Amino acid sequence: MRAVIAALPGDGVGPEVVAEALTALRAVASAFGHDFIVGEALIGGAAIDATGSPLPAETLGLCRSADAVLLGAVGGPKWDDPGARVRPEQGLLGIRKELGLFANLRPVRPHPALAAASPLRPERLADVDLVVVRELTGGIYFGAKSRGPAPDGRGEVATDVCTYSTQEIERVTRVAGALALRRRGRLTSIDKANVLETSRLWRQTVTRVVREEFPQLELEHLLVDAAAMHLLRRPADFDVIVTENMFGDILTDEASMLAGSIGVLPSASLGDVRPGAAHRFGLFEPIHGSAPDIAGRGLANPVGAILSVAMLLRHALGLEAEARALEAAVDDTLQSGLMTADAAAPGARASSTAEVGAAVAARVAAHSVLVIHSATATCGKGEYV
Ligand code: NAD
Repeated sequence: MRAVIAALPGDGVGPEVVAEALTALRAVASAFGHDFIVGEALIGGAAIDATGSPLPAETLGLCRSADAVLLGAVGGPKWDDPGARVRPEQGLLGIRKELGLFANLRPVRPHPALAAASPLRPERLADVDLVVVRELTGGIYFGAKSRGPAPDGRGEVATDVCTYSTQEIERVTRVAGALALRRRGRLTSIDKANVLETSRLWRQTVTRVVREEFPQLELEHLLVDAAAMHLLRRPADFDVIVTENMFGDILTDEASMLAGSIGVLPSASLGDVRPGAAHRFGLFEPIHGSAPDIAGRGLANPVGAILSVAMLLRHALGLEAEARALEAAVDDTLQSGLMTADAAAPGARASSTAEVGAAVAARVAAHSVLVIHSATATCGKGEYV
């Protein structure tokens, strides 16, 4: 297959983890005989410094013409001035909106080799295998914002408006429903319907779409505050979770602790299937931020970015065997004890970002043979999503 991938390294550890993700992509191309053409472009703080815009037109143009987008992370203290007119995060929100990426899939499948890195007891982590489907282009992050003097002259007043339409809720529910059908058939919808009007519309719409289009699914509704507790108390009960933008943002950082480190979790942001395409267009990125506290020191865990490449292969290019081979190479690497400091057990030797990336890439070829010859010889419990 020939495919064009837009790579947007971004800021902080973004370029470090994207470099390893591209090494993994090249290893897959060579093992399976594909031709992946990678074009790089600026986003976030690096783009502000070079062009004044967090999302330059050339970057958007490259992404629109690509088959998929691979992103690192954006942001950092250099661009954190609260009074700044342009901010790196505008690049991230802008690209999601411009490319119509409304569904963000965040799988959480703790690897046994990382159990010591999780604050939860190992028995709580056994059998945890969940995916959060987060709505990505609506809600409070995209609503009208204002800030100004308070009418009574005492201090200021700030407003962020949260809006959801029936159509926005329907389409993300369909992505989550279809995913749950391919998995264990359980869908949990998370909202705050006891307080928020948007959540009442959310709950009503999810209930109708599931009843009409996915009657086979077992549907559960949870309030977000209770869900935050259940995610730690009974994480193995969850299969697919669907929730709105801000709740998904917060709950997936919490869920990352099930996996031991935020550095190992990938994500896929999917839009509609483009005319003439066989798969949904998507942007793939680790869930972590630019981690300025460890940037430039070879400490960043590249696994989240590498597993994002596996999601890219699966969801954007339809290359299931390739995705599985890469996931198996990651599993194998972690199993061998090779991992960065964030994931290593206390006292264990930590590897650098590049060492982990090279170890995964070196294992891809061996797993490509296994995957081609046996549909079942893959990564332990099966694919990540
Ligand atoms: P963060 O995810 O960057 O870091 C949180 C903690 O996790 C830090 O201690 C960091 O060292 C650690 N960490 C993150 N990624 C890691 C990795 N790959 N390997 C090992 N450890 C890792 O979140 P933050 O500190 O709240 O934000 C830092 C900057 O990133 C901010 O400017 C924020 O706006 C931005 N941010 C960007 C994204 C994105 O680009 N998608 C997401 C979240 C935050």
